[in-house]
Amino acid sequence: MSNQCVFCGIVAGSVPSVKVAEDDTTYAFMDINPGSDGHVLVIPKQHSKDLFEIPADDLTAVTLAAQRIAKAAAREFGADGVNVLNCCGADAWQTVFHFHLHVIPRYVDKTKDRLVLPWQPGTPGDKDTTAALGGRLSAVLGERLATTMD
Ligand code: AMP
Ligand code: ZN
Repeated sequence: MSNQCVFCGIVAGSVPSVKVAEDDTTYAFMDINPGSDGHVLVIPKQHSKDLFEIPADDLTAVTLAAQRIAKAAAREFGADGVNVLNCCGADAWQTVFHFHLHVIPRYVDKTKDRLVLPWQPGTPGDKDTTAALGGRLSAVLGERLATTMD
């Protein structure tokens, strides 16, 4: 628990939230600035700053809770799809530094859905750059490249 952390405050009950679900490890509540109708945040009860820091068992529990909530939201709200989003680092739009997954139901009906894709779909990357970056990552991961570009 971090004293300065608003999400630790939500888990402790000192900061109000609209609770959606809770178990021993995770807590889920409505986002106060929803990107769409039914936007939920799922967090570990134990404070971890971000994706790099969260222990594997907490990450597993939060991911499974997010899946459960995504299915329930799709059924209950009649969502046409769901985005699950994590922001890791201020330059990746993280604003609250307690790990969380956004579960964002998506709707064909745009009166319920204010999300837009943050990159240009259908803009091909440079093949050589993509292959080189994939090669560097697979090398540090100790993997053989599983796919090729051609
Ligand atoms: P991120 O930018 O990925 O760190 O997302 C942080 C999210 O937390 C934003 O979508 C905020 O709207 C949401 N948020 C911040 N404070 C609260 C709060 N007290 N209750 C509910 N959601 C919050
Ligand atoms: Zn926290």
